[in-house]
Amino acid sequence: MTHASAPTPNSRQPSHLRVHSYHGLAPGPRLLVLGAVHGNEVCGTRAITQILAELDSGALAIERGTVSFVPITNPLAYQLGQRTGDRNLNRNMAPSAIPQDFEDRIANVLCPLLDAHDALLDLHSFHTGGAPFVMIGPQNNRGELEPFANAAQEMQLALHTGPHRIVEGWLDTYARGVKRRAAAPITEGGSRVQSLVTDTNYGVGTTEYMRSTGGYGVTLECGQHDDPESVNVARHAILQTLALLGLSPLPLQPAQGEREILRLVDVIDREHVGDSFSRAWRSFDAVKAGEVIGLRYSGAEVKAPEDGFVVFPNPGAGVAQEWFYFAQRRA
Ligand SMILES: [Zn+2]
Repeated sequence: MTHASAPTPNSRQPSHLRVHSYHGLAPGPRLLVLGAVHGNEVCGTRAITQILAELDSGALAIERGTVSFVPITNPLAYQLGQRTGDRNLNRNMAPSAIPQDFEDRIANVLCPLLDAHDALLDLHSFHTGGAPFVMIGPQNNRGELEPFANAAQEMQLALHTGPHRIVEGWLDTYARGVKRRAAAPITEGGSRVQSLVTDTNYGVGTTEYMRSTGGYGVTLECGQHDDPESVNVARHAILQTLALLGLSPLPLQPAQGEREILRLVDVIDREHVGDSFSRAWRSFDAVKAGEVIGLRYSGAEVKAPEDGFVVFPNPGAGVAQEWFYFAQRRA
């Protein structure tokens, strides 16, 4: 491709990541706050922008520890106004010696930044309606997939961000889906459908990377993409996190008492383009045991194995990709 004239700034691929750090003059924990890991999820970007102005004007103060803000974590996706740039930044997160795409280059700068902090607040929004929710990692364990020792701190952080709904169990459910695909590959017309999702590492995003290096973190889904209230949810979460960690002398509000903890227990793949949902599910719609959630192209019914919830339904999922997750209330 040749250009008749020099590219305008907006058509050029972003060449840097903008980070704002504030170091309190007393020691304390190190917090990282991310916005727009997905480029069309800008509530975090907007809330961070407000808070940077308040820190710079003196309306807010950082007295202990460190807080770093990345208002736009995937600048290519943000520039394009879409979820991903070359690929989803929140998957397969790791440094690479030979980066293959834009997100690999961002990860090479972002991973050392995650390494340099203790706690992460990652601000997202979602497409379909519903209430905000927060995603946490596993309970404390010494397993191989996601060993963890900071579950109590992470739960405290989740409860102070605000939403009453907490979702856990992402990586081990994801890993189960990967194993199942590898053991029984989906075939169409006699040939195996190549799944993009054949590697458990692909399930590693910002929070999973953070836990893998001894930190902890939550993903806060603040509301619908263009709902102005999602900016307030993000802002509230940032301020309460600064209070909880003692970085800023702000009043700490009581933790969310009305908690509902949902555990992701299974992921169901779409096996054929003719597979369809029985209705237009929204995330966290409740289902009864035996209720039909979808119909396979073959005519087979996909039923709820027990009472639970449909989570992250994707009617447009590709073949051999995640169609929906099934969750249950944590006992
Ligand atoms: Zn997102």
